[in-house]
Amino acid sequence: MTEPLPVKKLHGKVAIVTGAASGIGAVTARLFADHGALAVVIADVQDANGREVAASIGSDRCTYIHCDVTDEEQVKSLVDSTVQLYGRLDVMYSNAGIMSATEQTVLELDLSGYDKVMAVNARGMAACVKHAARAMVEKGVRGSIVCTASFTADCGLVGSTDYTMSKHAVLGLVRSASMQLEERGVRVNCVSPGLVATPMVNKYLNVGGEELKTIMAAVYPGSNGMLKEKHVADAVVFLASEESEFVTGQNLVVDGGSGKKSTTLI
Ligand code: NAD
Repeated sequence: MTEPLPVKKLHGKVAIVTGAASGIGAVTARLFADHGALAVVIADVQDANGREVAASIGSDRCTYIHCDVTDEEQVKSLVDSTVQLYGRLDVMYSNAGIMSATEQTVLELDLSGYDKVMAVNARGMAACVKHAARAMVEKGVRGSIVCTASFTADCGLVGSTDYTMSKHAVLGLVRSASMQLEERGVRVNCVSPGLVATPMVNKYLNVGGEELKTIMAAVYPGSNGMLKEKHVADAVVFLASEESEFVTGQNLVVDGGSGKKSTTLI
C-alpha cells in the first residue's frame, strides 16, 4: 500500500519571494503559505501592495521587507533579516522583473532602458542567488533556489530585445550556479512562464480588456482557458519542494506549448 500524498509540500520551510507585491510573485507567496511554509518573506519595492499581500497571509508567518533587488546591500540585508527572524533560509524564489516601457527592436534600442532592465532582471537575480546560496551553505541547509526566466529565454521576441537578453542571462545564471552548488546540496532551477495577464504585461501591451482577451485567445487556442499565475506558482512549489529533490540546473517551461507562437503575437 502506498502512503497518501503529502498535501503540504513546503511544510516547515522558510521562504523568500521577491517581486511578491504583484502578479506571479503574490500568488506564489500565498501558495507557499497554503503548502505549510513556516514563514514567507515578501520582498518588493511596492510597499503598500507588499504589506497587503503579507497581511492576507497573516502576520504570524509572513513579513514584508522592502528590497530593491538592484541594490546588493538591500538583498544581503533581506537574507540576513530572514535568517535572524526565522533561523534559516530554505527557499529563495527570485522573481522580481520588469519590461521596457516601450517595445523596441534593436534598431531603436534605448541603452539607458536596457541598463534598467538588466539591473533588475539579470544583476538583481544574480544578487538574490548569491546571498541566498551563501546563507544556505553557511547553515548547511539543503535549500532550493528558483528564478523566474521567461518563454523568451530560449527564443527571440519581435520587440523587447533587452528583456529577451536579460531572460537568457537568467538561464546562464541557473546553469552555472546549479553546477557550483550541487556538492553543497543547494539546488538552482528556473521556471519560464508563457504570457500571463499580470500588471507588467498589461502595461507593456498597453491594451484594454477585450483586446487583451483576443491576444490571449490567439496565444492559447488549444488550451482550456489561458495561462494564470497559479499555473506558474504550482511549478514553483514543485521546484521549491523535496518532490524535485533530484532536479537542478533545469528550466521548467510553463506555457501550454504557446511560447514560440507568442513571440510573434506580442
Ligand atoms: P508584475 O509586474 O505583476 O510583478 C513584478 C513584481 O516585481 C512587482 O511587484 C514589482 O514591484 C517587482 N519589482 C520590480 N522591480 C523590482 C526591484 N528592483 N526590486 C524588487 N522588486 C521589484 O509582473 P509578473 O508578470 O508577475 O512578473 C513576475 C516575473 O515573471 C518577472 O520576472 C517577469 O519577467 C516574469 N515573466 C512574466 C510573464 C508574464 O507574461 N506575466 C512571462 C514570463 C516571465
